Amino acid sequence: MRADYMRYRARMSSTTDRRRSFWAWGFEDQLPTQDARQVLAQSAAALLGVAAPEPCPPPDFANLALPPPRVAPPSALVDYCTVDARERALHTYGKSFLDQLRAFALDFSSPPDFVILPRDEAEVIAALSACAASGIAVVPFGGGTSVVGGVECPLPQGGRGIASLDLRHLNRVLEVDPVSRSARIQAGASGPQIEAQLASHGFSLRHYPQSFEFSTLGGWLATHAGGHFATVYTHIDDLVQAVRLVTPREPNGIVQTRRLPASGAGPLPERLFLGCEGTLGVFTEAWLRVQKRPHLRSSASVAFPDMPSAVAATQGVAQSGLFPSNCRLLDSGEAMLAGAGTQPTLLLGFESAERPVRERLESALSLALSHGGSCPQGPQHREGEPNRGSGSDAASPPSSEAWRQAFLAAPYRQSALLCSGFLADTFETACTWQSFPALSRAVRKAVRDALVSHCGAGHLMMRFTHVYPDGPAPYFTYVAPLPGWSGPRDHAAMVPRATAAWHAVKTAASDAILEHGGTITHHHAVGRMHKPWYIRESPPLVSAALRAIKQTLDPHALLNPGVLLD
Ligand SMILES: Cc1cc2nc3c(=O)[nH]c(=O)nc-3n(C[C@H](O)[C@H](O)[C@H](O)COP(=O)(O)OP(=O)(O)OC[C@H]3O[C@@H](n4cnc5c(N)ncnc54)[C@H](O)[C@@H]3O)c2cc1C
Repeated sequence: MRADYMRYRARMSSTTDRRRSFWAWGFEDQLPTQDARQVLAQSAAALLGVAAPEPCPPPDFANLALPPPRVAPPSALVDYCTVDARERALHTYGKSFLDQLRAFALDFSSPPDFVILPRDEAEVIAALSACAASGIAVVPFGGGTSVVGGVECPLPQGGRGIASLDLRHLNRVLEVDPVSRSARIQAGASGPQIEAQLASHGFSLRHYPQSFEFSTLGGWLATHAGGHFATVYTHIDDLVQAVRLVTPREPNGIVQTRRLPASGAGPLPERLFLGCEGTLGVFTEAWLRVQKRPHLRSSASVAFPDMPSAVAATQGVAQSGLFPSNCRLLDSGEAMLAGAGTQPTLLLGFESAERPVRERLESALSLALSHGGSCPQGPQHREGEPNRGSGSDAASPPSSEAWRQAFLAAPYRQSALLCSGFLADTFETACTWQSFPALSRAVRKAVRDALVSHCGAGHLMMRFTHVYPDGPAPYFTYVAPLPGWSGPRDHAAMVPRATAAWHAVKTAASDAILEHGGTITHHHAVGRMHKPWYIRESPPLVSAALRAIKQTLDPHALLNPGVLLD
């Protein structure tokens, strides 16, 4: 096991030594070049029918002045705490549009006072205990890819300071049970770290959110993360066997649930903690259900003359009992962006390590064709060696390659568009098939009206990321000119105008979603951003019970103040 780990470390060192951007998505060296940004800006301007705004170079870390820490790390923790400016900046925000906007404008007014980097669970326990004793709030931090304000560090009322607790050193697969096909994995392990270590055992977790490269197991558990499986194993929850977390309750604040394939014994303890967004405890490890690496794949790409027939076909496949791994419906805007044509397009994919999936694909395809679809390229069937990779094979089957590349590049494009004077963002939900048509109409109208009135123009696209027999998970992307954009000049005036426009769009979209039977989030989580709508959709007695649980596990309200609960 140790030798495997050393080999894995050697393999990963080339990626872990790269620097993450302090303001944008991903690695610093992956931001599209100035020329590429210009091409992107020209396409966005043409799409919106506006002139391309004057671009601005990315911000320079050397120009950033952080407020000094209000408190020093408690003396018991100094061995594994840092007040390094770059670390504090990297832990100030997640990666939502608003996070990137503020960081781009070098607004880092609320960084953590220090960052805690525990090397094992004992240091997590010590950190919570010392911070509780010193009146310092703690924000658990995985990959920092939250898009809902989940890792921000605002000083709570009456608090002395606030620290970010980064689990990055707890990044190992500790144990594999090949008989039960499960693995014990530390919570700070990122997607590539998990896949690389499981590969040496011939297994894969096969959980590939779009943020896979940087997000971590702990973050996934804390936010009900959604992976690439469009049906059945849609959320990380479906892969969880048991969890272990440290709560701030003293003494004995550890919760360890039992390893069971299923249980009918009362409310399930894992389910209490999944989606807790760092408010009830800190996940340190979990047992996950793993799978053999698939090498039998069948896929097809089906184009439709209009959205209603594409939606009807997707609903038919979702209710057919065929359970494709990939069942993504792209509207015409998404299809064009992905280089998958100009019509609404359904991407279908099946995969297995055990038996051919050709017949299931052909059944799903004939169902889709019966709704008026066409499949000019025909079905694709592939048999190959199980991929030992890092997720690069995984998000979708081969015929969807163009879409997959666009999927992974999209977050870098969002950051590049920001430097070019455009607002690009996404929001998502889930609803029943019955409510989808009215929800879709209402959201499109509300968002387009808000974009036109606050940004002068806008373009909205939609895809289904996941589908269930009773409804889809629609995912919307929009792009608009950034109001108040002043090119390379001072951004002080631009930020409030752009923020107000973003809020107007968010409110219009979220209100329309809730009014038409959707949830405020299918997999992006609640954080601080979605809290007003989460409170509206949550039964009041459930909110009261959650507050009582918080009081039991975190009596001094140490963890992630302001997230999920008031
Ligand atoms: C470009 C992009 C694409 C994305 N794609 C997807 C997607 O496909 N599917 C999806 O579900 N989400 C997606 N997200 C959202 C985000 O990646 C997920 O919410 C992810 O699960 C967060 O993981 P993380 O490790 O980065 O957690 P962080 O962002 O660090 O934290 C998220 C929340 O979890 C808490 N937390 C983190 N670690 C722990 C822990 N060990 N114990 C307790 N609480 C903890 C934090 O306090 C915070 O509230 C995307 C985000 C971006 C920016």
